[in-house]
Amino acid sequence: MGRPNAVIGVDLGGTQIRAARLDDGATAFGARVAALTLGDEGPAAVLDRVAQAVRQAANHNLWAIRAVGIGAPGPLDPQKGLLYEAPNLPGWENIPLRAELEARLNLPIVIGNDANLAGLGEHRFGAGQGVDDMIYVTISTGIGSGIITQGQMLVGAHGLAAEVGHMVVDPNGPICNCGGVGHVEAFAAGPAIARAARVRLSAEQPSMLRQLVQGEVEKITAVHVSEAAQRGDALARAVLREAGRYIGLAFISLVHIFNPRLIVIGGGVSQAGDLIFDPIHETLRAGVMNPAFLDDFRIVKAALGGDVGLWGAVALAQTVGE
Ligand SMILES: [Zn+2]
Repeated sequence: MGRPNAVIGVDLGGTQIRAARLDDGATAFGARVAALTLGDEGPAAVLDRVAQAVRQAANHNLWAIRAVGIGAPGPLDPQKGLLYEAPNLPGWENIPLRAELEARLNLPIVIGNDANLAGLGEHRFGAGQGVDDMIYVTISTGIGSGIITQGQMLVGAHGLAAEVGHMVVDPNGPICNCGGVGHVEAFAAGPAIARAARVRLSAEQPSMLRQLVQGEVEKITAVHVSEAAQRGDALARAVLREAGRYIGLAFISLVHIFNPRLIVIGGGVSQAGDLIFDPIHETLRAGVMNPAFLDDFRIVKAALGGDVGLWGAVALAQTVGE
């Protein structure tokens, strides 16, 4: 009998545990499983459920599985197999994720940060296929990223690399979710876009946004801003332009440091399309030190949608024994 070649990827989220099996040579998942995380029951119960999801995705044939890749939220050390913390899972601190799951499954386990793995997923299976120097950036409630350089996922000395959302774009800017000052996430993630719209509305500027939320301005989200902008609303368009400009400022540094051929943008804010992509391009063109950085360079939307975390975890598992 040959060496097992199927792999399983797990997306461990604050709400859901999802697992999928990819068989050798397949281009679609052979099985997929979802279960509630129920994080308030504590780490041991959640780890039991992860192991159960893996067994189900394997159709209870664990002998056929080469490795399991786990994408987890929050900072972690892939070498040590240690999850430092998980923002959406109460009580999760310094969990030896790899050892706990190896003990439950007796299979090789590899772990990665969910945003890093989303980048790996887009590289192997999505919009970045065949592109060895690419950066994936997801812009939703936060800004996360995965950096692929010369075909390898960048993890850094402690597995903490690629925190693109926490690049300083204005030392006098607002406080970020992380506590830092003037990070791009504090200017251009979904909550920042909603906040910028509310600030402009409070200055009595005209906008259809008020109607979209029946006058309850505090309920405005980035989705409303995007919708109003698509319908030609000047205030909403100005807010997206401003957010795009800050993302462009961060991208100037990314392009200078990594010289990527491609930046793939995912997350809800990417749905605004050219209304956010255009100011990003304009800011980049005006800011690069040499136009050669932008030769054959493209910015595109992500291709894998809500399954990007699963594809990333599967791609990580495939690196075992490669
Ligand atoms: Zn930050």
